[in-house]
Amino acid sequence: MKTGKLFVVSAPSGSGKTTLCNKLLEDGLGLANSVSMTTRTPRPGETGGVDYHFVTRKKFLGLVKTGGFLEHENNFGHLYGTPKSFIEKNLDAGSDVLLSIDVKGAMKVRRQYPKDSVLIFIRPPSIVVLKKRLLSRRSEDVQTIAKRLGIAKKEMAYRGKYNYCIVNDRLATAYKKLKNIILSELSTK
Ligand code: ADP
Ligand code: 5GP
Repeated sequence: MKTGKLFVVSAPSGSGKTTLCNKLLEDGLGLANSVSMTTRTPRPGETGGVDYHFVTRKKFLGLVKTGGFLEHENNFGHLYGTPKSFIEKNLDAGSDVLLSIDVKGAMKVRRQYPKDSVLIFIRPPSIVVLKKRLLSRRSEDVQTIAKRLGIAKKEMAYRGKYNYCIVNDRLATAYKKLKNIILSELSTK
């Protein structure tokens, strides 16, 4: 029986990971989207159940206790986790799943699924460009952006641990590279 693949995409916040992953999901490649759970509040335009499952800290910690997460992390003071049942259900059915999670979470997924996970790192052309993108998104204040830029530098150090690394300079070019990686990995299933 063919099992599914886990495509795990990570990037420093503001690199364009959400933009690229949304394009992938709209492109008819048949990837199931793993919707993470988080205790952070929705940003303008975000929808519960689509972008994230937005939950209370109490509910999140309850799920941690009962082993409901494949992995979970504290990012920028908020909790984020990958619901385990969704991943297992799709892999068992032979479906491929897209996970958009941070670098520490990605390492944990690889440890649990060494053969069935493909790790893709998206990076901005430079820290200066990253700062510009975070400012243009207008979803965080200046202090939060400074904090995220500091963390971005640490996350960049993980890129060598990924199977693939894509520089998101021109969006169309980066997307083409991402799609080709997915298509080539799916063809070897
Ligand atoms: P992430 O999910 O990595 O935090 P987003 O997808 O929210 O990042 O992108 C951050 C901002 O940068 C958004 O305003 C997005 O429209 C913009 N953006 C994404 N990719 C590019 C690109 N290649 N060139 C210019 N702007 C981009
Ligand atoms: P944001 O608040 O900008 O949406 O996400 C902050 C960080 O949390 C990003 O690096 C994002 O990839 C990460 N993240 C989102 N969902 C999960 C998850 O389920 N697990 C882990 N480990 N990180 C996540």
